[in-house]
Amino acid sequence: MITLSFHGAAKTVTGSKYLLTVNGKQILVDCGMFQGRKELRQKNWNPPPFNPADLSAIIITHAHIDHIGYLPKLGREGFDGPVYATPPTIEIARMSLADAARLQEEDAEYRTRKGLTHHKVALPLFTEDDAEAVSGQFVSATYDNWVQVSPEIKFRYHIVGHILGAAAVEVRLLDNNREVSIFFSGDVGRYGNPLTRNPKPPVETDYLVCESTYGGRIHKPEDPYYEFANIINDIIEKKSVLLVPAFAVGRTQQITYLINDLITHDRIPPIEIHIDSPMAIRSTEIYVKYPEYHAVDICKLGGKKCILNGKHVHLHRKKKSSKLLNRLKGPAIIMSASGMMTGGRILHHLINRLPKPENTLLIAGFMAEGTLGRKLVEGEKLVYIHKQPVDVKAKIVKINGLSGHADFQELLHWLEPLKKKPKKVFITHGEESQTKAMAGHLEKERGWDCHIPELHETVEL
Ligand SMILES: [Zn+2]
Repeated sequence: MITLSFHGAAKTVTGSKYLLTVNGKQILVDCGMFQGRKELRQKNWNPPPFNPADLSAIIITHAHIDHIGYLPKLGREGFDGPVYATPPTIEIARMSLADAARLQEEDAEYRTRKGLTHHKVALPLFTEDDAEAVSGQFVSATYDNWVQVSPEIKFRYHIVGHILGAAAVEVRLLDNNREVSIFFSGDVGRYGNPLTRNPKPPVETDYLVCESTYGGRIHKPEDPYYEFANIINDIIEKKSVLLVPAFAVGRTQQITYLINDLITHDRIPPIEIHIDSPMAIRSTEIYVKYPEYHAVDICKLGGKKCILNGKHVHLHRKKKSSKLLNRLKGPAIIMSASGMMTGGRILHHLINRLPKPENTLLIAGFMAEGTLGRKLVEGEKLVYIHKQPVDVKAKIVKINGLSGHADFQELLHWLEPLKKKPKKVFITHGEESQTKAMAGHLEKERGWDCHIPELHETVEL
């Protein structure tokens, strides 16, 4: 018997965890942390809904925390098997998990110190030791090559764009003499992104698990290139500061690339770009190391002419130099993490810059429910950061065209080459309205049988 259980990203975007069982053998596809609303984040503290020691392997699609952030916790709870990922995903994941662990420990220490916990001592979800231990379990797997996990389980990765090293996963399971294929979309990227490669078409499959982050939306047709040029020209005229919260991996490189390109083509005058995120700096180094995994010409990487850094880019690794940015006068661009403004150095910049009407905050990605980013997108005029009230007087602008996620038309386009109707399509990784919309599109356009799983639901394949 073959079963598939949805232990995350069911009617929500975060916490991706799909458990496959065949004849008692178990593997997990993705091992993400829940993020956003408090009731979601609290789910990270529940005991895992399966025995981690029973897993034969974990297969990771890409290195975003909502796909890898639960690994250290599973490691601590007894999982000691291989964690498969592409080589760039492994490097990004090791870095991101160490960073997440450090944030967990700092947060626990802060809560203990401030008496914000019901317990004697607040505990981190996982520690730096846990992150380091599970980081030693990574095993690399490359695109298009089959990996035999056990006699009854094999998988291979497919290029899917999104971020460096990201993949969709095709899994084949053998149940006695019956072979069943399941294709997991992972997060599907956009077409024509200047950094990532275009998603490759999926292969024919019995079952499909498809993301739906933008299952009900179409990204605005305006070219983000010109929208972005207008925003920067406005900043230059006002001699003010453009604040860009950006994921350290992917978004920071994409925006730096875009700005350098606008300068090179005289669409904007040269402007100083400050990258205030040690992890973003390290990620850029990983881009430089893996040219075959992205779409940037290797000749344009590295050194002063590096298309991801360039001579207008200033890197801020140390806290001291980050703090000095508070006094920075415009025109300038400050880019910092975290992308959804849930933590990290960006919060200090928001406290400092949001109350001033001359500044601009650029929102260029998906903001999950319950995050500070979502509140700002929705136009809240008063927000709380580190428990202090902050007036929102700065201009808030949103560019959808820079999203790392395909919209529903791009998802339909991506799925177009599939001729055979899957036995069932499971729509995941989306807020409920988006999930329903995506199911509606697939039913109407393709006549496919879609199911929106509940959290912890198990289906037999
Ligand atoms: Zn992602």
